[in-house]
Amino acid sequence: MLRLNAEDEKVIIGRIPYKEDILKYLTNLCIENSITCGTVSCIGAVYKMTIGFYDQNLKKYENIVLNEPLEILSLIGNISLKEDKPFIHAHVTLGDKNGSAFGGHLFEGSEVFASEFEIRYFDSKRLIRNKDEITDLYLWS
Ligand code: ZN
Repeated sequence: MLRLNAEDEKVIIGRIPYKEDILKYLTNLCIENSITCGTVSCIGAVYKMTIGFYDQNLKKYENIVLNEPLEILSLIGNISLKEDKPFIHAHVTLGDKNGSAFGGHLFEGSEVFASEFEIRYFDSKRLIRNKDEITDLYLWS
């Protein structure tokens, strides 16, 4: 657990360019700004998306590649350090043309139609992920 002061919080808001990969774009932004502890949220639309579902028995992700126009109803995640590099862990809820919603863990492999994001971060704080033996995931210590 990490205790943070609201007055130390900084915010970047912006637009993810057309055709960009959401996870790559936001991760690069974190690297460029040395963001090591924060949160991220995003809304918008994509015409391609890759999400995942973690199989708890097999301890591996099953990827789901979606090649259709979708709304990003909600993308929410956090930013910490994994192997000394800024790492975004985010989940996304998507909506299709019928208004049905579904979602999963955000992976690289998206293409943005239009998207707006918000990153909230704390300059002097570091949140670190380490390999967890039970889940086989990189979790906060
Ligand atoms: Zn996840």
